[in-house]
Amino acid sequence: MKSRKIISTLGVAVLSASIAAPTFAANETSPGTPIQQTYSVSGFTDHAELGKKLEQIASDSQGKVKLDVAGYSNRNREIYKATVGTGDKVVLIQSEIHGNEKTGTDAILNILKFLGTNSPEAEKIRKEITLVALPKMNPDAAELNRRGNDMAWAEVVEQFPQLAGASASWNYYTYKNESFDYESKPGFDVNRDFNPDLNYIPQAKDFPGKSSTPGWFITPESQTTRDVYKSLLKQYGKVEIFVDLHHQAPYYEVDGTDDLVTYSISAQFVPDPSSPSGQDYAKYAENYNYDFSRQLNVAVYNAMKEQGNSPYGNISLYPQNQNLPGTALGAFALNGSGTVLFEVRGQTQSFGQKKKGMLIKAVERGLYGIIDAVTDGSVYKINPERYESIPLTEGRQ
Ligand SMILES: [Zn+2]
Repeated sequence: MKSRKIISTLGVAVLSASIAAPTFAANETSPGTPIQQTYSVSGFTDHAELGKKLEQIASDSQGKVKLDVAGYSNRNREIYKATVGTGDKVVLIQSEIHGNEKTGTDAILNILKFLGTNSPEAEKIRKEITLVALPKMNPDAAELNRRGNDMAWAEVVEQFPQLAGASASWNYYTYKNESFDYESKPGFDVNRDFNPDLNYIPQAKDFPGKSSTPGWFITPESQTTRDVYKSLLKQYGKVEIFVDLHHQAPYYEVDGTDDLVTYSISAQFVPDPSSPSGQDYAKYAENYNYDFSRQLNVAVYNAMKEQGNSPYGNISLYPQNQNLPGTALGAFALNGSGTVLFEVRGQTQSFGQKKKGMLIKAVERGLYGIIDAVTDGSVYKINPERYESIPLTEGRQ
């Protein structure tokens, strides 16, 4: 009942957001192509549509899918949180932390829709897991069809006056080129703004930072995900699984065919805290569970290979040996979550909505690989070493 009330006020907020939203998000021009080509992204779900679709899914589910506003972006757009299931294992899934990486949002919508039905399979899943989804968690970036959010360093300093003398963080964009105008609308890469210390408070001495040091939770978008994560920790004791849905440039499959990689996956975002190279993270060693992250990735890989000889099968491993403690995945892996990265081929600037349906379906199937293997417990029996035999992508360092 309570959620119904929230939902009806949402409708109004969504409507006003759509009027305020920029009008140039539907088309972007791709740089570097011989003939300037316009790639449409209008087939993907935008922020206003997302609110309506989530409301419909929640209403159709008759209370099984609960919808909340978890927080607001810097430009005051709703960051939605959808929850379904009553199981004690929490699966947190996030999409569009980079706003030009869009398939994850539609894949999440499809999954929420199914899990809200009366099918016996959905019921079984709901008993075992609690799925929490943050679709389009960076809506300002999504509306601008770009990577960074819409926030100036001056706005950060306004909220954290202790940063007045500090230089802007290294992940702050102010450039302008054919595709992106960060000069008139600067912004941050939100996926470098996380910190494994979930209670971290920004301090001037930690700026400008770099890719191998933690972020600061200076953006409202990272703060929202952090707060959801902390509230789940409080309620369930643990966030069993965290999945972040991204896109990468188009790469070719390892076997030298002309087939593009459908997506790459990964379990590795920071060095193992109990290894010599991971000593900066030693205090997280007890929580960190790399083997479980590897098992989850193998579950995705297996589910995709089961599709047989189809475009769905071109799954590769994302480049390993990363040290990115400012990513959501790195920060949450150090807090004990099994973690999975999806990197679907082609951002919207290089691909638009080409193969949209297939790629959304592929992400969806990979996510069910995780959900099903956790529901029936089979993920815990996977040999984590099988992760090492997933092929690396050709043409990547
Ligand atoms: Zn990304």
